[in-house]
Amino acid sequence: MTIGWCFDNTYSKLPDPFKEEISPIPVKDPELVILNKKLSKELNLDFSNIDNKKISELFSGNSLPPGSNSIAQAYAGHQFGHFTMLGDGRAVLIGEHLSKKKERYDIQFKGSGKTAFSRNGDGRAALGPMLREYLISEAMHNLGIPTTRSLAVVKTGEDVIRETTLHGAILTRVALSHIRVGTFQYIAAREKKDELEILFNYAIKRHYPNIQNSQNKALDLLRTVMEKQIDLVVNWMRVGFIHGVMNTDNMSISGETIDYGPCAFMDTYDPNTVFSSIDQMGRYAYCNQPVITKWNLSRFAECLIPLIDKNQNKSIELATEIINSFEKKYEEKWLNMMRDKLGLFGIDEKDKFLILDLLTWMHQKKLDYTNTFCHLMSLEIEKNENFKDRDFQNWKKRWHERLKINNNTPEKYINLMKSVNPVVIPRNHKVEEVLNEANKNNIEPLNKLLEILNNPYSDQKDIKEFQIPSFSKEKYQTFCGT
Ligand code: AMP
Ligand code: MG
Repeated sequence: MTIGWCFDNTYSKLPDPFKEEISPIPVKDPELVILNKKLSKELNLDFSNIDNKKISELFSGNSLPPGSNSIAQAYAGHQFGHFTMLGDGRAVLIGEHLSKKKERYDIQFKGSGKTAFSRNGDGRAALGPMLREYLISEAMHNLGIPTTRSLAVVKTGEDVIRETTLHGAILTRVALSHIRVGTFQYIAAREKKDELEILFNYAIKRHYPNIQNSQNKALDLLRTVMEKQIDLVVNWMRVGFIHGVMNTDNMSISGETIDYGPCAFMDTYDPNTVFSSIDQMGRYAYCNQPVITKWNLSRFAECLIPLIDKNQNKSIELATEIINSFEKKYEEKWLNMMRDKLGLFGIDEKDKFLILDLLTWMHQKKLDYTNTFCHLMSLEIEKNENFKDRDFQNWKKRWHERLKINNNTPEKYINLMKSVNPVVIPRNHKVEEVLNEANKNNIEPLNKLLEILNNPYSDQKDIKEFQIPSFSKEKYQTFCGT
């Protein structure tokens, strides 16, 4: 029986500056921790007849599948606003796999050892953060949000030294591609127009072939990537997701959520929520995510300047015009998303006030973001005296009045609300709990949580403990996990 790999590698054929040819560094004693059967199926890969030892050898990079050709990709990026040369310092792309429908996916090992881009790092990753990426990326996918996926995690049988000694692990990440804003920044910084054109044409062919023949491909690429990023960040805002490290190297041209480091879901509604221990200034706080998206897109636009027009001033003018349309586009999409969360059809000029008044009230009363929308769908996750509050009752009257317009019916609005308001999200304390158990070799709680998060929009039996926020008063903090 074969697994069904169908590699067709194109990125590795790009010129030398784009990559370093390198194999994963073999590990001592690989052991499969988790394999994503659902995703395997979607990729037309079949591991059912392969024994665990072979699967472990495969996903540790100790034995590469036929047709793969592993490389570390070069990229740069603005990290917390500072430009740095980066690249895959602890990852290798082993190739591009084609599904039966001819969809192309990057297969990448994260934690696979040192490369030319490792700087002072050890090239390795720890089990906790890799399982965290697996769990949250799969949760995001099931929430209907574009994201890289996770195919497998193996333990390496080697220790990694961080503040403490941890189990080493490798995650297999699946992505539409790993072309980042930072990839463009890396090539643009080399100031060789032919190289920039190669990357530009490659990215268009791979992700946006519909603009291949457009009049001004560079402007259309900027516009399209902006649309994709706005859709993405609006989705994040919808479910209370905080990426935590929105550096330009962590923004994918394909519009997928990428790089799950210090990310977490907001519980108590507070627009200034930050979980990442290193984000002291709140640069990547919940409410700042659209602002940073625009900032990152401006860096992307700068890379495209030589390709927009021969006249540099004209190029800048045209690109600026697109970038400046960000706010209007974002607000439109954000308002529509919030209308959906409240079951509102059509547009009413007072919608924005209705929405903002609810959010302000939630903030004042320190209410749980997810569970307040559940309450509005008549789903009582937790009893909360605040729901009896007079201001809230008054707000509800306005909401009910608004619900009546545009031939809306209770059935219609509840269905709409149910399609966008999750009833369960990866609660921070639950995530920590299952990762702690996994670190002690008990993978069952992780599997259970994954199963519940498979259907985040349906009210499942006996899942209350997964829906209520933590009682702990301690501020939740995440770490980059490098
Ligand atoms: P990340 O925080 O995962 O987005 O990584 C930022 C940059 O640091 C990327 O270039 C990574 O490859 C690199 N990096 C992170 N952790 C390590 C590590 N343990 N060893 C080498 N490079 C690393
Ligand atoms: Mg990264």
